[in-house]
Amino acid sequence: MDDLQGELRALVAGVRTHLEARARAGLVGVSKAPCPRGKGTVQVDAPAAPAAAAHPLTEPADLETAFAADSEPPFPHAGHGLTLVRAELGDCQRCKLAQGRRHIVFGTGNPEAHLMFVGEAPGADEDEQGEPFVGAAGQLLTKMIQAMQRTRDDVYICNVIKCRPPGNRDPEPDEVAACEPFLKKQIAVVQPRVIVALGKFAAHLLTGEHTPITRLRGNLKHYQGIPVMPTYHPAYLLRDESRKREAWHDLKEVMALLRHMGLT
Ligand code: SF4
Repeated sequence: MDDLQGELRALVAGVRTHLEARARAGLVGVSKAPCPRGKGTVQVDAPAAPAAAAHPLTEPADLETAFAADSEPPFPHAGHGLTLVRAELGDCQRCKLAQGRRHIVFGTGNPEAHLMFVGEAPGADEDEQGEPFVGAAGQLLTKMIQAMQRTRDDVYICNVIKCRPPGNRDPEPDEVAACEPFLKKQIAVVQPRVIVALGKFAAHLLTGEHTPITRLRGNLKHYQGIPVMPTYHPAYLLRDESRKREAWHDLKEVMALLRHMGLT
């Protein structure tokens, strides 16, 4: 009986993930109630409701993305899926950053978050504690999240690179190549509705554009059909407080987009 119940639970979760991916891609028929995703509430509309009018910030999701999403094997459950990704990472030695790290800094927050923040790489505090964004920049990020009427537990936070580069230098191409697949798996599992790319490094990686962050920020882009808002990294905002106004503008755009999706 336990096996049967487990199989049923996995089946329901798989269908849910599949339907969410279709809904995100614009293939309607599913709406998500505006409640914390951690509760896992999903409503199926019958008959399928017409697609909501496009938000001025969004571009229409293309069908290729939709079918690509369809072809992905659904993860049984986001929390479980992240556990599997973390297990696959293991005691990772895939690049030279493994030599100097104290902790792999994988990610933290709600595994089913609507909103995901992606930074560059852990610093000294993060390496020490094994959690992303816990130093001074992390405290500022926490304030930014709170200003968006959310908590760190509501969102998911991670970095492109999971181990601290020595002296906080920029990650090197071979390190990015080794680590980036795990960020992609985290995104595939969490399936956020919106991603905030913090700083040029995450913004360049997720948008595929390599223009300076001063020009890229504030312009909504997409990664695999998911809206991505590039903005300044909190560490940069600590160095140049005059940029905070622009960052807040970007976050307000994200809030408007989430509201448009019915996700307050
Ligand atoms: S940075 Fe990423 S790929 Fe390199 S050792 Fe750490 S976890 Fe592995």
